[in-house]
Amino acid sequence: MKALIIGGGIAGPAAAIALHEAGIDSVVHEAHAASADDVGVFLTLGSNGIDALRTIGADAPAVAAGFPTPAIDMVSTTGKALGRVRTSRPDGDITSRTLKRADLYRAIRDEALRRGIRIEPGKRLVGAQDTEGAVRAVFADGSEECGDLLIGCDGLHSTVRGLIDPTAPAPAYSGLIGLGGYTSGVPVDARTGSYRMVFGKRAFFGYVPAPDGEVWWFANVPRSAEPARGELERIDSEQWRRRLIELFADDIGPAVDLIRASREITPAGPMHAMATLPVWHRGRMIVIGDAAHAPSPTSGQGASLSIEDAVELAKALRDRPTIESAFTAYEALRRPRVERIVKQAARINNNKAAGPTGRILRDLLMPLILPRLANGEQSRRTYGHHIDWDAPTATIEGAGRPRR
Ligand SMILES: Cc1cc2nc3c(=O)[nH]c(=O)nc-3n(C[C@H](O)[C@H](O)[C@H](O)COP(=O)(O)OP(=O)(O)OC[C@H]3O[C@@H](n4cnc5c(N)ncnc54)[C@H](O)[C@@H]3O)c2cc1C
Repeated sequence: MKALIIGGGIAGPAAAIALHEAGIDSVVHEAHAASADDVGVFLTLGSNGIDALRTIGADAPAVAAGFPTPAIDMVSTTGKALGRVRTSRPDGDITSRTLKRADLYRAIRDEALRRGIRIEPGKRLVGAQDTEGAVRAVFADGSEECGDLLIGCDGLHSTVRGLIDPTAPAPAYSGLIGLGGYTSGVPVDARTGSYRMVFGKRAFFGYVPAPDGEVWWFANVPRSAEPARGELERIDSEQWRRRLIELFADDIGPAVDLIRASREITPAGPMHAMATLPVWHRGRMIVIGDAAHAPSPTSGQGASLSIEDAVELAKALRDRPTIESAFTAYEALRRPRVERIVKQAARINNNKAAGPTGRILRDLLMPLILPRLANGEQSRRTYGHHIDWDAPTATIEGAGRPRR
């Protein structure tokens, strides 16, 4: 069997490694010429994402590229403690890690290359035909490649999603603009590796001290209307710096100092999420990762879920007798989990963009709600998730797909 993987971000190379472990050949086609590395942005790889990489023997490079992040402390605009999210696996065996997104891309891609997997840069998929017995992928440079199945790992603005279902919904704008930066020489009141996040008066701010003394920070700025294409690109880094200093002027914490001293501000981008995609697969084509179910960055789970997807799909293809039955079993397994996490992140997003009355309610209710959300059963299910590579994929066919 040969799989055509579209997208060389996180899900794509992870799927190629997992398929390789399952004895299935694949080739990864990535639209960007050199690499898909995104400069500047950092993320948290959850203990569940690390565990999924460990399942396929690919966790070490990603773990080495980051630093441990055991907890996130949430505070209100006045500094009132709202709750602590523990981001480690409940048995303490694996701790989530913070790393630059480009480093995570590189770690997984290099591991795929080390195993002899072919990664083709400069191949932007523009079409695909699912004919009897094979699927043919067509690329913008006019080239084509045939395989037994096609896995769309092409991210939030997926092309494969539309090829599977032309009526598929587009990702929804979450009402927030995300940006961030890296600052040296500003002391902060947080433990190395752990985040402190402030539900500020006008915007949301998070920061984490790295082991080398640098502080990594991000801001989520509410903006009700989705910015027009090119609008954010016209605002330069210094304009953002001034705007952010104004936005955080009344809040507790080091936001203003960190922003003022930041050596750069990463380019701003609107934050999107893909909640419920009705159709994940058709014939020999399927979407996984952000292409199927992107949680907003608030969840801290997008990368981890993409890796879990890759491992579960490879397992289903290894265990089920046909591609169709593997896709169906995979969807039934994955849909309830990923949609729960996407919905949870959307609820937190609403609190980041709260108005004056919403803020009062949020600061009253969060200390009551957050401990249950963050450290109870929900958190255990999110961060403690484990995929048993040796157990055969169950046949729970038909379950999980929502009614249209
Ligand atoms: C600011 C920000 C902060 C985030 N923070 C976190 C966090 O803390 N924790 C976390 O887990 N997640 C976080 N995420 C989300 C995380 O980055 C994504 O969930 C993850 O990258 C999804 O992986 P993916 O492989 O599905 O998609 P991507 O990583 O987006 O990769 C898709 C790839 O497909 C390629 N591609 C697209 N179209 C085509 C085509 N037609 N043909 C060929 N190739 C194509 C793209 O170039 C890209 O390389 C954050 C995201 C952002 C933007």
